[in-house]
Amino acid sequence: MTDYDVDLFVIGAGSGGVRAARIAAGYGARVLIAEEFRVGGTCVIRGCVPKKLMVYASRFVDHFEDAAGFGWDVPQPSFHWSKLVAAKEKEISRLSAIYRTNLDKAGVTILDSRAEIEDAHTVLLKADERRVTAGMILVATGGTPVLEPDVPGRDLAITSNEIFDLPEMPKRLLIVGGGYIAVEFASIFARLGSKVTLVQRGDNVLRGFDEDMRNGVRDALIHAGVDVKSGFLPTAIEKRGDALHVSLTKGTHIEVDQVLTATGRRPHTLGLGLEKAGVIVDDIGAIKVDAYSKTNVDSIYAVGDVTNRLALTPVAIREGHAFADTVFGHKSTAVNHTNVATAVFTTPELGTIGLSEMEARAIYDCVDVYLASFRPLKATLSGRQEKTVMKILVDGQTDKVLGVHILGEDAGEMAQILGIAITVGATKADFDATMAVHPTSAEELVTMR
Ligand code: NDP
Repeated sequence: MTDYDVDLFVIGAGSGGVRAARIAAGYGARVLIAEEFRVGGTCVIRGCVPKKLMVYASRFVDHFEDAAGFGWDVPQPSFHWSKLVAAKEKEISRLSAIYRTNLDKAGVTILDSRAEIEDAHTVLLKADERRVTAGMILVATGGTPVLEPDVPGRDLAITSNEIFDLPEMPKRLLIVGGGYIAVEFASIFARLGSKVTLVQRGDNVLRGFDEDMRNGVRDALIHAGVDVKSGFLPTAIEKRGDALHVSLTKGTHIEVDQVLTATGRRPHTLGLGLEKAGVIVDDIGAIKVDAYSKTNVDSIYAVGDVTNRLALTPVAIREGHAFADTVFGHKSTAVNHTNVATAVFTTPELGTIGLSEMEARAIYDCVDVYLASFRPLKATLSGRQEKTVMKILVDGQTDKVLGVHILGEDAGEMAQILGIAITVGATKADFDATMAVHPTSAEELVTMR
């Protein structure tokens, strides 16, 4: 690799790219990383992290309400969107700076520039039209929101890229979509005080998740005041004064202050020059890779959302690390994409790992279902009616746990720990043999019979 300017050129300083760059540099590689926006990528700058901060902000509404049942007299609270946005921005800037420092410390050179591929070993830096040659190129450019459906006025809608920095909180918000982003923001903004309408083309939110959990999330949104319209789509968006007038299918109209489109994300490969190097992409632009994240071109690899395998931050990080181990650490490492725990940060939140009941029944002849629905202890004094729902799916023949789904407080935290049990192949008997921690909600997982 000494004939090249660097050993590794990483395009995109998000979760996957940064991890790959640092680990590769740790193996002694000369590494350069280019980023056209802000170091940290979608997750840190305009995704998971600011979203979770807003989830916390929104949950205070429930805490203030619950406090009375525990003897607290809470004066009428008031919320200031601009203060939240400023605090969020401060934290995001701090994190982005830490990413830079860590790259610096690892000996990685950061270039604030868009980078495009010229051939299998050459990258063009758009900031100064400089060409850099590299032994290996790693594409880690992530994804970008899609503005669907294609209706007149759709450019008037915003995406999750813009929602975090709106100058004012929308009093009336229309959300299009029923996936992760749509339900999370519906839950956030309804709690912060917006009048939220969610329109989705399907008959329920969160397609692909367990049915009981989907129903639970939908009901919780409705309970929080969200108007959930299933089987609807916008047909036109028009600006009328300060408001947006949205026509929906079935002849319905609605007037709102903002429209948030959350209809999925696409791999960010447009204009990247992949075709110049002969890299194969699929029909939505996702880079095709093998189990080691290698494309059909030996010197070009790709990790994270740009490959559209499993669009989750921890997966991108693991893929980036495995790439560096394989190529620069001489330890061939493939990433296992099965049994990835995940959480949807609605309130209550959904934590899940493994198969849904529908998926399990399609694969296994005999599936045992353990279902619990209960009012958590805290709700006995707060008066909150919300139920925690837990579901364990077990292969009736081998006793192996196939999936666990939780809707309730701290479900994401529980899913993370359950991930270990499922990864090592725990059986229902292993769950039963585990002593409970009392009083917790999680103890239900080891006491369900
Ligand atoms: P999702 O794929 O989760 O959901 C997309 C939604 O948009 C679905 O309801 C889908 O409907 C609908 N949709 C798709 N195309 C159209 C269309 N043409 N017209 C109308 N509706 C349409 O995407 P998101 O944008 O919510 O999130 C993107 C990804 O980001 C997620 O898949 C996830 O990987 C990641 N993410 C993860 C989070 C987490 O871990 N907590 C949080 C946020 C995002 P249908 O179901 O009918 O196809």
